[in-house]
Amino acid sequence: GEIIQTPDLDASLLKVTKTTSPKTPLPPSKLVFGKTFTDHMLTINWSSGNGWGNPEIKPYGKLELDPSSTVFHYAFTLFEGMKAYRQEDGTVRLFRPDMNMARMNRSAARIALPNFDGEALTELIKKLVVLDSEWIPKEKGYSLYIRPTLIGTQNALGVGPSSDAMLFVICSPVGPYYASGFKPVQLLATTKFVRAAPGGTGGYKLGANYAPGVVPQAEAAKEGYSQNLWLLGDEHALTEVGTMNLFVAFKKPDGSVELVTPPLDDVVLPGVTRDSALQLARAHSKGETIPGLPEKLVVSERKLVMADLVEAEKNGTLLEVFGTGTAAIVSPVDKIGYQDRDIIIPTGTDGLGDIAKGLLGRITAIQTGEIDHPWSVIA
Ligand code: PMP
Repeated sequence: GEIIQTPDLDASLLKVTKTTSPKTPLPPSKLVFGKTFTDHMLTINWSSGNGWGNPEIKPYGKLELDPSSTVFHYAFTLFEGMKAYRQEDGTVRLFRPDMNMARMNRSAARIALPNFDGEALTELIKKLVVLDSEWIPKEKGYSLYIRPTLIGTQNALGVGPSSDAMLFVICSPVGPYYASGFKPVQLLATTKFVRAAPGGTGGYKLGANYAPGVVPQAEAAKEGYSQNLWLLGDEHALTEVGTMNLFVAFKKPDGSVELVTPPLDDVVLPGVTRDSALQLARAHSKGETIPGLPEKLVVSERKLVMADLVEAEKNGTLLEVFGTGTAAIVSPVDKIGYQDRDIIIPTGTDGLGDIAKGLLGRITAIQTGEIDHPWSVIA
């Protein structure tokens, strides 16, 4: 048959309707993560027959959806998390938006939702964050958390590809993750639940991956741990921590330090922060020095099992464990509960090890525009 090309997302068709009742942004000190939203949102509808419709920026408000919409029944929903930063002079910057767009398209393809031109969505997100830029506190550590979401909106029960979809973007001003210094987190190495399995969906940012993590997290909290350390298989291979990627640093016999993160292998979410930390650490070992990082640093993406951590603790070669993600950037770990005892991990005097601190400093300097870098994109 004849192939009919439906229209892709076109940023030039944007229609903007500004709010007539702007809210007053909360004072920065009152912000709670993800509870305050800016005045506007972006919406774009898609249908299999007509492709992507006209993008609209309009006052933040309720969506009207039919109760039969596929999103409510079979979890046709996926999302992204990215941040915008505002400089003293008002310039707004996004951090590696191309990575979020590519990941969003991979997530969409995994659950038969439509793909779109990532550059066009980035252009539209820029328009939205510039319009609502007064909502981004200029104070150090503050940013705008951006939540692009894609849902299936076909009105019919029956499991199959959704003939209709809606992409929307909402924004939430957020404060520094650690308002009063770095608080290391305690992990429970979880053997009762799995987050992701080979061939499953753990490598995609689907809504369906997150609700099932809430009960395991609550169970870990009951035992006095803040997050789950997600393991896989009989060898208890480490994969991720809570909703962050995992890094472990070991001292080697030759005096060098090895920084390890588990390979993606279809079970680990390809974090933008993970990729950034890997690239910066690798550049450091090739001479683009990052203050605080060990002089001889080896960077590996390789399988790590719990026995490696137990042995390193025993030998005194376990240097640092930390998570990476958009919300906190780095999150130090000081304790891992495993098989009825705790593995104790050193943290620096201010709660953050040298490698985590060095990477955090470099990544935030790039995000805020303090250091010029192609990863930081002006909106
Ligand atoms: N793993 C999971 C399961 C996540 O939800 C996130 C947050 N997106 C991450 C890792 C970190 O990814 P990123 O660095 O892109 O925020």
